[in-house]
Amino acid sequence: MPSDRNGQPLCLLTIHAHPDDESSKGAGAVARYAAEGVHTVLVCCTGGEEGDILNPAMDTPDVRAHLPEVRERELEEAAKVIGYDEVVLLGYRDSGMPGTPANDDPRSFARAGLKEAIGRLVTQLRRTRPQVVVTYPDDQQGYPHPDHLRVHAITFPAVEAAADPSAYPEAGAPWRVQKVYYTAWSRARIVAMHEKFLELGLESPFDAKWFERPAHDETVTTRIDTSAVADVRRLALLAHATQVDPTSKFWFGLPPEVADLVYPVDDFALARSDVETTLPEDDLFAGLRPE
Ligand SMILES: [Zn+2]
Repeated sequence: MPSDRNGQPLCLLTIHAHPDDESSKGAGAVARYAAEGVHTVLVCCTGGEEGDILNPAMDTPDVRAHLPEVRERELEEAAKVIGYDEVVLLGYRDSGMPGTPANDDPRSFARAGLKEAIGRLVTQLRRTRPQVVVTYPDDQQGYPHPDHLRVHAITFPAVEAAADPSAYPEAGAPWRVQKVYYTAWSRARIVAMHEKFLELGLESPFDAKWFERPAHDETVTTRIDTSAVADVRRLALLAHATQVDPTSKFWFGLPPEVADLVYPVDDFALARSDVETTLPEDDLFAGLRPE
């Protein structure tokens, strides 16, 4: 098992809002670290109860009646595909898209007390002792889901509190996370996919709207080569059978062997680091590994 400079086993903890976010954001990078023997932990904040059934083949009365259980099983399956060692459900309810009645549910992540939600994450950080945490940026790039914003809102206070012995003393021994990253969906990925559709004479699902959205590629500091685990993202997404339509052009419009290698990189933005590192990086643990 790989270790850091202090002999502590390497651990990567990712924080996601809903089941399926772990598959659409950074799955290949996690798979690569899991394959290397890094301990990998997925914290999923909500059960995704408000997700629409986006795959017509799965839209049955039985699935509708048991959606939370179905989504939990899908999450377990996807996590297995990616290679996560642990899946931790933080236990909140999906807050729904802005302006929907789910926003008002007192069990929702967005309505939960911030201090209490931070405490739940502190407990996991102290228990699993990750050197590296992956979370979301505050700018959700045109997808302002309250739960995604909340993931960002609890991460830094939890990282601070986890290292502070006077904070949440009942939540375990203090632990200092050393690097925090944001996931990134770069314009470069969209361009690479769009051009491949055109090259193959296929209709591209990326219309002008995609290219009008602000690009944040200049924030990317760290690019993880995922070519050795290139099919993981696709297979993990497919595990979310209610959420991902296998006929979706956006996800699966390119032939699998082409899609797997059209942009075989996961992009991240380094948000905070306690250790010295040289940017750009090709490793989330850069600066933490033994010389
Ligand atoms: Zn989500």
